[in-house]
Amino acid sequence: MRKQILFLLILIFTAQTMYSQQNIKSRVESYKKVKLSADLSWLSDKEKQIIPLFIEASKLVDEIFWKQNFGDKESLLSKLTDEYEKEFVKINYGPWDQLNDEKPFIAGYGEKPPCANFYPKEMTKADFEKIADPNKTGAYSIVVKDKDGFKVVPYSAAYKNEITKIAELLKKASELAEDAGLKKYLSLRADALLTDNYQPSDFAWMDMKSSNLDFVVGPIENYTDKLFGYKTSFESYILIKDPDWSRKLEKFTSLLPELQKGLPVEDKYKKESPGSESDLNAYDAIYYAGDCNAGSKTIAINLPNDEEVQIKKGSRRLQLKNIMKAKFDNIMQPIANLIISPEQKKYVKFGAFFENTMFHEVAHGLGIKNTITGAGTVRDALKEQYSALEEGKADILGLYLVTRLYEMGELKEGEVMDNYVTFLAGIFRSCRFGAASAHGKANMVRFYYFQDKGAFTHNDDGTYSVNFDKMKDAVISSSQQILKIQGDGDYNTAKSLIEKDGFIKEELKKDLERINNAGIPVDIVFEQGMDYLKF
Ligand code: ZN
Repeated sequence: MRKQILFLLILIFTAQTMYSQQNIKSRVESYKKVKLSADLSWLSDKEKQIIPLFIEASKLVDEIFWKQNFGDKESLLSKLTDEYEKEFVKINYGPWDQLNDEKPFIAGYGEKPPCANFYPKEMTKADFEKIADPNKTGAYSIVVKDKDGFKVVPYSAAYKNEITKIAELLKKASELAEDAGLKKYLSLRADALLTDNYQPSDFAWMDMKSSNLDFVVGPIENYTDKLFGYKTSFESYILIKDPDWSRKLEKFTSLLPELQKGLPVEDKYKKESPGSESDLNAYDAIYYAGDCNAGSKTIAINLPNDEEVQIKKGSRRLQLKNIMKAKFDNIMQPIANLIISPEQKKYVKFGAFFENTMFHEVAHGLGIKNTITGAGTVRDALKEQYSALEEGKADILGLYLVTRLYEMGELKEGEVMDNYVTFLAGIFRSCRFGAASAHGKANMVRFYYFQDKGAFTHNDDGTYSVNFDKMKDAVISSSQQILKIQGDGDYNTAKSLIEKDGFIKEELKKDLERINNAGIPVDIVFEQGMDYLKF
């Protein structure tokens, strides 16, 4: 008993010493506040009537995620008197700092349990083994303690109050919906919530191609269940399609066969016809709730997760343009101001940043999926090196596409130099995420490749400048190198390339430290809801 008390005291002590109130204030301030809105004037009256229903449903989604991640929200919030503590708890949906390894920051709370609130904290793995109900490993149920041990409760029962109301709101929205795809999806999603069978609604979501509104809602990602990774967290996004970019993307997708033929590699590396197995579109987000609103905010969605649906229908990639703009203004632009030479800062533009991001996605469909050596798919041949190389390919071929489309007169709003300088600044933003991510690694490899080819100059004042012609050449030679490694299924070259350069060396480290010390926000937090929308 004494040991337990001592342990508790240590926990309280560490929690208190780790986060002083001053600490918490600065953690809150490391999230830049951003108001969420979009142009809604072009939507139909019915579409405008649907949005408040989605917002109401999202507020209930928030309540469910609180329960999943922590438990009784009021029991925590009612104890707090400090405004910053309250705010930071709300940002994190609990007393654990999402962007700092989920360290506890409120006195009295210890480490976050890996089971979150999906399983009882006292349940051991042996207890779990003993549960006979096969639904225990399902994505849409929790485990609770009962008189004879542990039992499985489906989400529809565990969160019955909230779910019943959300389903009613979705049915109402479905009645209002004019787009047949949206109408069907919303109705099936309401059924899914009530029955815990989500697959029919995932299929309907894949078929929803023409709706101006989208409402991603339900239990979706499994990252919060760190015990087994079975259970999914509730979240929702309310999205408005970007009609301009939708039209542009349709056009670029139709140019893909021609662009594939023009790739700067031998014919044998470009003989496949380019795939567009996934549906790519741009949206503005006007509301985030639950899991996706906790801690860092995503700028793109790739769903559904159900593999059966993916095999039959592919997936949809939704790029969230206004969220990217918010991160560009508040994070990327300040980084560029530190790192790009004074003469070239004018080339750092959101339009170019968004193009680079969109063409990264388009470029995943170019090149080659099967090796030309009979070694099977590129993915299988390159094993654990595949992701970093494929991300690198998408970045560099994306830039190649932009260059080509400007030359073809298909892009005309800016100039290629905007894309190059913005891309260089983006490398520093991505390297900040570290070598643990495929994106981070790909960016480090690219930085050293560009350096080696003289694509940029590191100036005496510590800033960087792009050398246009050498950059253009480096984009082509790097595309050739990656497409050849992929086509040959050359695992050894892929491995040595990534091992040689996929980490942060001394010079780059200094730049990243400079960025980190400049007080640039780490992420954004939203002010959202009806008050922020103009109809
Ligand atoms: Zn990618």
